[in-house]
Amino acid sequence: MELLPKDSLETIRNADKIVFLTGAGISNESGIPTFRGEGGLWKNFRAEDLATPSAFQKDPNLVWEWYDWRREICQKAKPNPGHLTIAKWQKKMKSVSLITQNVDGLHPRAGSHSLIELHGNIFRARCTKCSEKFHLVNDGFDHSGLKYCKHCESLLRPDIVWFGEEYDQTLLTKSWELCKQSQVVFVVGTSANVSVPANLAHTAIRNGAIGIEINPDETNLTPSMKHHFDGKSGEVLPQIWKEVFPNESLE
Ligand code: NAD
Ligand code: ZN
Repeated sequence: MELLPKDSLETIRNADKIVFLTGAGISNESGIPTFRGEGGLWKNFRAEDLATPSAFQKDPNLVWEWYDWRREICQKAKPNPGHLTIAKWQKKMKSVSLITQNVDGLHPRAGSHSLIELHGNIFRARCTKCSEKFHLVNDGFDHSGLKYCKHCESLLRPDIVWFGEEYDQTLLTKSWELCKQSQVVFVVGTSANVSVPANLAHTAIRNGAIGIEINPDETNLTPSMKHHFDGKSGEVLPQIWKEVFPNESLE
């Protein structure tokens, strides 16, 4: 069965800017739990209780333990056909951008370039005092618990945008620009509960893009989308690729 009608296929083929906005759902099939789905709890804490500046202030050891546990899951996980399809699309067309809320590093491991990681990366830490950044694995911080800066010996924190924190302004400006210029925006595996990513999708649509959502559930964004596919991104994205590029294999 065909997923997309002819006019949408044409819009995708002729687009000079396409944006993929991805969230935790795209990594679910790689075995990384979403925050609100099954397996999203750790020792009975909700993410909202741990991913905040005040949680870190109160108990940095607990917060690091949670990130150490999540980092190990991310390290063992492998990119799935959803990540790989986007990476292949970016290799084929320069005009395809990727903005992710994910911190798991699976998009770059799938081969995605020009990637905006809006919420940071779980493999990075930064100094709470001098702001120096470190790669946790490559720079030898792969142990569990508290970690300290190699320059000023202050406490390191995960290089993640926590609930209630400001986004990196440069990344945000670039994301708005990309969304404004796009003719197609794919919204993949995000609940759109976080306002910035949801606003990015709305900006693209207000500026004339068609919206295509891939999510087994409906979200706040669904009514604004031209198409909603209630399936898994690892299955739907390769199918869309086949319809858009019928003569090109994904291998
Ligand atoms: P979310 O947990 O709020 O929502 C995930 C969405 O993905 C849901 O709407 C769900 O229906 C959908 N989904 C589940 N399985 C799917 C599949 N196979 N294919 C397509 N969609 C699927 O996640 P969010 O909206 O990304 O936002 C929560 C925050 O959590 C973000 O800030 C993100 O940084 C962080 N987070 C990241 C990761 C990661 O890096 N992998 C994991 C958990 C949470
Ligand atoms: Zn420092």
